[in-house]
Amino acid sequence: MGEQIFEKKFQRRFENFVCQNCGQEVKGNGYTNHCPHCLWSKHVDIRPGDRQNDCGGLMEPVDAQFKSQKWRLKHRCQKCGEIKSVKLSPEDNLDVVTQLIKRKAEKLFYNK
Ligand SMILES: [Zn+2]
Ligand SMILES: [Zn+2]
Repeated sequence: MGEQIFEKKFQRRFENFVCQNCGQEVKGNGYTNHCPHCLWSKHVDIRPGDRQNDCGGLMEPVDAQFKSQKWRLKHRCQKCGEIKSVKLSPEDNLDVVTQLIKRKAEKLFYNK
């Protein structure tokens, strides 16, 4: 314990998990730790993939943005309020992204 042997920016891990928001079983591809069905995540990383954060709160998808040719999804931790953003992958449920953008647009247009 205590000794960091792997000093990489990103540690690839293959982890399967059950989504704590929608209950779907998720096959880890080593890159993503969010659920591709509902896009919720879990607050377990300090840096992507390190699993060093012991918060463990559920992270709600709150926003999606298109930036430098990539779609990014913003998560807010329900427990500690931290905001993190992740890259969207092709497996992700784009309906959720559409809903997020729609909600954002409505807010802007109608001040809802
Ligand atoms: Zn889910
Ligand atoms: Zn948290």
